[in-house]
Amino acid sequence: MSEQMVSRIRMNGKVPGRDAGIEVRKTLCAICNPFSHCGIDAYVKDGAVVKVEGSKGHPHSQGTLCSKGSASRQYIYHKDRIRTPLVRRGERGSGEFEAVSWEEALNTIAEKLLKIKEETGPESVAFFAGYTKWMRPFLKRLAHSFGSPNYCTESSTCFQATAMAVKLNYGYFGPPDIPNAKCLLVWSTNPFHSNTSAVRRLLDARERGLKIIEVGPLNTPLTRHADIHLRIRPGTSGALALGMAQVIIEESLYDREFVGNVTHGFEEYRNYVKEFTPEVTEDITGVSADLIVAAARLYAGTKPAAMMNSASPTVHHTNGLQNHRALTALVGLTGNFDVKGGNYVAPPTWLYVPAGVVTREFAFEQSRPWEQMAPRVGQDRYPVWCKLVEEAQAMHLPFQIRSGKPYPIRALLGFGMRYRMWPGSDSMLESLKKLDFLVNVDFFMTETARLSDVVLPACTSFERSELKFWVENYVMWTQPVIEPLWESRSDADIIFDLGRRIARDDELMQKGYEASIDWILEPSGLTLAELKKHPAGLALKDVKMGPYRKYEKNGFPTPSKKMEFSSTILKEAGLDPLPRYREPNLSPRSTPEVAKKFPLILTTGARLPMYQHSRTFRLGWTRSLRPDASVDIHPKDASARGISNGDWVSLSTPRGSLKVRANLTEIVPPGVANIYHAWPEADVNLLIEPDYLDPISGFPGFKSLLCEVSKDEG
Ligand code: SF4
Repeated sequence: MSEQMVSRIRMNGKVPGRDAGIEVRKTLCAICNPFSHCGIDAYVKDGAVVKVEGSKGHPHSQGTLCSKGSASRQYIYHKDRIRTPLVRRGERGSGEFEAVSWEEALNTIAEKLLKIKEETGPESVAFFAGYTKWMRPFLKRLAHSFGSPNYCTESSTCFQATAMAVKLNYGYFGPPDIPNAKCLLVWSTNPFHSNTSAVRRLLDARERGLKIIEVGPLNTPLTRHADIHLRIRPGTSGALALGMAQVIIEESLYDREFVGNVTHGFEEYRNYVKEFTPEVTEDITGVSADLIVAAARLYAGTKPAAMMNSASPTVHHTNGLQNHRALTALVGLTGNFDVKGGNYVAPPTWLYVPAGVVTREFAFEQSRPWEQMAPRVGQDRYPVWCKLVEEAQAMHLPFQIRSGKPYPIRALLGFGMRYRMWPGSDSMLESLKKLDFLVNVDFFMTETARLSDVVLPACTSFERSELKFWVENYVMWTQPVIEPLWESRSDADIIFDLGRRIARDDELMQKGYEASIDWILEPSGLTLAELKKHPAGLALKDVKMGPYRKYEKNGFPTPSKKMEFSSTILKEAGLDPLPRYREPNLSPRSTPEVAKKFPLILTTGARLPMYQHSRTFRLGWTRSLRPDASVDIHPKDASARGISNGDWVSLSTPRGSLKVRANLTEIVPPGVANIYHAWPEADVNLLIEPDYLDPISGFPGFKSLLCEVSKDEG
């Protein structure tokens, strides 16, 4: 075979090497959350990515990519990428924009924001971080240095309510130590779809004999590996947790030493959980009393045992915060808190990821103390949120924009913002239209970007540099594998360039992105110069993961310095200090009159493996896996309604209806309808009231309300 032919074969086969002109460069996928961010080998030829693969030796993702990451090239080179900065010239929402230079766009934003600051105060400008999340610390600093307390994020519907719950109970919390656990209680999370890099560890541990208890209404790929599946009615996690606690206490399976020495309010809690006998709990949750007892015995009787939960399924309920308090209380009750093989507490290094070293992330983000700024959006309505979460509560934004109380919100600078994230998304849309000035930074011309006055093109993780830590004590300063496409720029560069214009007193912001990274890294002993020498990443040495049972020396960071079964903070706020179970605001038990017309329980927001919120709908590969918006419904419920698989149906709630296809599946139990949350043509959030919210956390009740599904005759 001639050399030329070999060369052609290598080129066609995308085999790296000089003859094919293909080089493999290391980067990461940032499509989903920072706990994943799988390592990617980008095959680059003539300045373009021609192929992607999972990085084989990557300590976190170990060469795997999910369907979304595998479609990265369709993401990077999509025709809808915004190519230049744009300034609106037509009516708001008309899509009429004029391409302008970066200088003009940034000057326009700066002039407008500074004018609003002068007229009605810096708090009249809100800053919002959606996806991707990597730019969050920089945007938060920009907001605070500008003087606005109103930095908020999509975590107002994700993660922060679980963080609040564990802060109320323990002050801090930790992820499950799966490799060392003997039993794993997986509570309403599906790692196969939302945390794929954890699956291998989980299955390896299963091979070694790990017992698995799964809790959640839906069947998931984990179900067939589970010893017990507690298939609860949506919204009843709290009752199940209290029922398990009742068995654990009644049978003396709890950790007397932990409970006796380091907890607060145990007697109150013990008296309360007495109500939740297995029979009562069965009646509420729909799980048989025998299974509840078996699960309680297995979890409390196997040492050590860890609990795995997720950022949102347990708190997307109008009773969500107390649900999550109830279930995480089981960790302390059974003595599995901050122990090997339990839930181990490790301080976060950067962007929520504990990697074993300390950085100055929090000092960097919060450049101005809260006392020097106005109250945050949502502070009156959600005082406990504002005590425990270092952000404004974005769910209150539409209410404050419309009311102007206690002060007006006139401008919003958003990164990767989608108004469809809000329950009653039409109400958020109307609120955004009332703003004097809206900016969105994004990859694509989304519906929210289309509404904006200025739109700025961001570049993807392949086109920029970012500081990334992984829990496997690994760090990487990613380097662009290709030049930013068209005129797109890194979010960080955009933020620092705005900082030079609107946060002139902030010395670090004036010094720039890389100087800030060095400042943040300082306590870790790492420097950017050192990280740049390791483009594939660096294993951290001498990591300080800290001892177990840290509370024995320092107490818990709660008001009582103990783990609180009865919360001091909630009591002081005039709220119920116990993790008390309440029915969801809309349920067959709490609103039987509504349930007559809407007899099914609607649950939304569970992941499909090929979609990450709305981010991957526009990609041909991922969209082909489920092209039409569809509602999952049990064959028995479908048959009772004369519905066949694939039929067009009407999904309705008291607020409205949507036309979608029926997907007949036993993934959902009878009586439950499940729909993915971000279909552009079938937005389920239109069917949910804007104030269908947990009164303590402000989180939407996405996962338990009432609906009906009927054959669409139109
Ligand atoms: S989207 Fe998939 S490939 Fe990308 S980081 Fe998440 S799990 Fe990994």
